[in-house]
Amino acid sequence: FNTERFGQHILKNPLVAQSIVDKANLRPTDKVLEVGPGTGNLTVRILEKAKHVTAVEMDPRMASELTKRVQGKPEQRKLDIIIGDFVKADLPYFDVCISNTPYQISSPLVFRLLSHRPLPRCAILMFQREFALRLVAEPGTALWSRLSANVRLYAKVDHIMKVGKNNFRPAPLVESSVVRIVPLDPPPPIRFEEFDGLNRIVFSRRNKTIHGNFMAKGVIEMLEKNWRTWCAERDQMIEDDVNMKAKIEAVIEETGNTDTRAAKMDVNDLLKLLSAFHDIGVHFA
Ligand code: SAM
Repeated sequence: FNTERFGQHILKNPLVAQSIVDKANLRPTDKVLEVGPGTGNLTVRILEKAKHVTAVEMDPRMASELTKRVQGKPEQRKLDIIIGDFVKADLPYFDVCISNTPYQISSPLVFRLLSHRPLPRCAILMFQREFALRLVAEPGTALWSRLSANVRLYAKVDHIMKVGKNNFRPAPLVESSVVRIVPLDPPPPIRFEEFDGLNRIVFSRRNKTIHGNFMAKGVIEMLEKNWRTWCAERDQMIEDDVNMKAKIEAVIEETGNTDTRAAKMDVNDLLKLLSAFHDIGVHFA
């Protein structure tokens, strides 16, 4: 009865559960984070391979089913259950994250993993198919988006298997896919808020020219405000007749983006554009 609120679709196919865990290539020394263990179909298989599991489960009834499942067994000592919302929970150290994710928290999960320090070695995550395909999309294809660019700046992502809805009880409305996310370590020295702030504008209408998107109402004012703050922090003189529109257009032109559409820009194109804006003191966050 909490199926909707908690996204509780239990993975019933043992072969799928086993292959998700196998894909993580766990080592006997690994500490694993599992998000939303439910009744523990993945958890028991992770416990066989890893040194320790921390499972974060929001539904106390699920947590107690999982507790019962390991009670009195040697695995019990290897499992900590945090009852609460993953988005707010304090996370311990972990080497690998494995999750059949409640789909409501797909984005927060990915970005929390990528901003966690030290970075995990990899994450094996089940998502709604469409979300998974956006993570692995290449520039120039229909699903390349702000999400794709933001994730691919910090990680390598592979689609590792499709999982049909009939593998779950109750069956969800959508198909699912498992992806492997390997964070780049060391991560690129780019503040997420800056890159995402640029992408918000660039991808606001992904098939229009980015020039058009930058000229949209509100964007120029916002960037001018950020620029003025940046100048003030550096005691930098501000000319009397600031023409922010012209400054922005100059950057777009100088970086060769006069006719560019977001749909075609790869991570490097976006980084070059960001760096050219930073060179003139224009920031996005
Ligand atoms: N891992 C289990 C499996 O594969 O059979 C259950 C998967 S089910 C799709 C998602 C689980 O995540 C449910 O047990 C649900 O209660 C839990 N959950 C939902 N939202 C959560 C959140 N914000 N934080 C932690 N757990 C959550």
